[in-house]
Amino acid sequence: MTTIAFIGLGNMGNPMAANLVKAGHKVIGVDLIPENLALAKEHGLAIAEDGQSAVKEAEIVITMLPAGKHVLSVYAEIAPWAPKGALFIDSSTIDVESARKAHAIAGENGLLSIDAPVSGGTGGAAAGTLTFMAGGSKEAFARAEPVLQPMAGRIVHCGGDGAGQAAKICNNMILGISMIGVAEAFVLGEKLGLSHQALFDVASTSSGQCWSLTSYCPVPGPVPASPANRDYKPGFAAALMLKDLKLSQEAAQAAGAATPLGAEAAQLYALFNAQGGGAADFSGIINFLRGSNG
Ligand code: NAD
Repeated sequence: MTTIAFIGLGNMGNPMAANLVKAGHKVIGVDLIPENLALAKEHGLAIAEDGQSAVKEAEIVITMLPAGKHVLSVYAEIAPWAPKGALFIDSSTIDVESARKAHAIAGENGLLSIDAPVSGGTGGAAAGTLTFMAGGSKEAFARAEPVLQPMAGRIVHCGGDGAGQAAKICNNMILGISMIGVAEAFVLGEKLGLSHQALFDVASTSSGQCWSLTSYCPVPGPVPASPANRDYKPGFAAALMLKDLKLSQEAAQAAGAATPLGAEAAQLYALFNAQGGGAADFSGIINFLRGSNG
């Protein structure tokens, strides 16, 4: 049994922490929202007053927070209170620069650290099948791997500090671009009198095949589990896709990489969000592309 402090018990953090409890670990939770703490208690977590008291005896500290600024302020607050040699795992999706700063704060306080963002959404968090993409030293990764296991379907060590966040934003840039491509193809097919099923049957076994089509089809029917079948209830909200596309654009600018389709995808998701689509699943961009935003 390992003592784990878990900070950030929202849509993702709560079910992730529940899987750690199920695996037999002692998990001490912290959040700002009373309802999230009540749910965490039901999942068997111990609740701490604040981050500092949560980490005092922790061997592992996991954060699952909204953005880089939250991670950096929490790290600055708690790192000096954690036992020397403890391992900090940040699973939030944040910018690469903040991730590297978080590693630096951990290092200055005698702690090991990895950035380990996830893919797989709230469904994967509940099922314990998330893909973790980790950045950090081999030593830190080796210690993190068995702790991540109860929450994971796959764990990939991507490289040094920040490499997990780099992999995450590259992956989600592919996803944002490919979803727009698939949605445009369905909209064109509709105008040409092609049924959704016919286009799906051809493209899903042809060179247009991709995850956005075969696992997350943006029209109802061909893939019964996709959010299109439940009026685009997320799933993965368009607002979060916009956040990730912005992160990839900031990274591209800082690194001097040309990502013109990533930039276009960010613009289209910004417009979709501005027109009220932010709370819908990101595959709902098909309605925006049709001009209906339904
Ligand atoms: P969320 O908003 O539901 O949860 C974040 C939690 O952090 C909230 O409960 C909030 O109260 C808490 N929090 C904020 N500041 C805090 C502080 N100082 N101390 C303690 N708690 C604090 O968000 P989420 O959907 O769980 O996402 C968390 C992260 O995971 C984000 O970075 C997101 O981009 C990423 N992510 C989300 C999904 C998804 O499908 N929801 C998928 C992959 C990755």
